Amino acid sequence: MGSFSAWALRQAGHTGPITVIEKDPTYQWSSTALSAASIRTQFGTPTNIAMSLYAAQMFRDIKQAFGDDADIGFREKGYLILGGPDDVDARVAAAAMQRSHGAEIEVLGPDDLRSRFPGVSVEGVGVGTFGARHEGWFDAWSLLSTVRRAARQREVDYVEASVNAFETRDARITGVVLSNDAKLPCDFCVLAAGAWSGRLAAGLGIALPVVPKKRTVFSFKTPFKLANFPMLFDPSGIWVRPEGEGYIGGIQPLPEHDVDADGDFEPHHALLEESFWPLLATRIPAMEELRVHRAWAGHYEVNTLDHNGVVGAHDELTNLIFATGFSGHGVMHAPAVGRGVAELITTGGYRAIDMRPLGWERIRTATPLFETIVY
Ligand SMILES: Cc1cc2nc3c(=O)[nH]c(=O)nc-3n(C[C@H](O)[C@H](O)[C@H](O)COP(=O)(O)OP(=O)(O)OC[C@H]3O[C@@H](n4cnc5c(N)ncnc54)[C@H](O)[C@@H]3O)c2cc1C
Repeated sequence: MGSFSAWALRQAGHTGPITVIEKDPTYQWSSTALSAASIRTQFGTPTNIAMSLYAAQMFRDIKQAFGDDADIGFREKGYLILGGPDDVDARVAAAAMQRSHGAEIEVLGPDDLRSRFPGVSVEGVGVGTFGARHEGWFDAWSLLSTVRRAARQREVDYVEASVNAFETRDARITGVVLSNDAKLPCDFCVLAAGAWSGRLAAGLGIALPVVPKKRTVFSFKTPFKLANFPMLFDPSGIWVRPEGEGYIGGIQPLPEHDVDADGDFEPHHALLEESFWPLLATRIPAMEELRVHRAWAGHYEVNTLDHNGVVGAHDELTNLIFATGFSGHGVMHAPAVGRGVAELITTGGYRAIDMRPLGWERIRTATPLFETIVY
């Protein structure tokens, strides 16, 4: 979010100094580096669909945006989201809404699913929605490296430090105080600290409802092969997709175990045998035979109000711009958010995509923008 905002500001013609302050330039605990790096257009909110379409276009044309060296391994292989028999009407309506906003979503019944995705059981399945275009996965590390390199080439400064505090005067942020005691003055301050954003905003007395929640990813091999295997979401809560020669997948912990992560990056290994593996083997019986060779955990930056991003200016500190809270869909939306932030700063409003529904106003008034399709 931070790097895309900086790069997009240059693209928008901003010539003044831009600094990205990053406490850990290895990014080893950043959500971006630890994510499943997938992109979908199957959302319940038109703004989210528009942001995904924007990113899919950029990912396809990555060399056009960033030069011939750029390669993020975009695999446009679709999301297959399965639903039970009771979900059919809602899913058919959601797909129609998504199509009306430019997504290319097919609705598949059990027979279509059986023939298109042999090996995937349709037991208890009433419907599947599938987006063969604009959906799939990519390499998030390459995306981050690509935009960061492009930003640096355009004289964006990267400073290794932690933002510890803010200086304010007359309802504006006038500067940030860094861990090395340096003070950096600013005209605008973009808060893009991912899962740490809520805590950072608290230092300004702002109640930004963004908290870190741990999500574990299992990387495994199995003899099961299917050339067109998509990113699959099962009604049981598991997700799985191909990665290299094998697969990655996961499941959210039960709500009562889903405490704020607070620096905890230890994978939740028990989820494998308690839920992920049995549920996976139920949906894809041939995956009962699997060998996990790695597991890792990262933090979702969960907006507890409505699981949607917070983008735009604060109502009182008007030069504080939020770009955070995407709750598990922020890598795919970073290109659009970066552009939106740049438009706000350079023109005072949105041009490409109207992101006002994601604005601070709904946080201030506790009016959720409900996203019906949350993972
Ligand atoms: C397991 C998992 C799977 C996911 N799968 C997907 C997916 O398939 N698709 C998708 O789009 N999204 C996915 N996400 C969500 C996605 O990773 C995030 O929404 C996105 O990476 C957020 O980007 P960000 O720039 O806001 O945060 P980050 O990438 O976390 O970057 C924030 C940066 O701020 C720095 N920082 C924090 N505090 C300070 C401070 N005080 N001073 C200086 N620097 C600071 C941090 O070091 C960090 O590098 C997933 C997340 C996880 C954990």
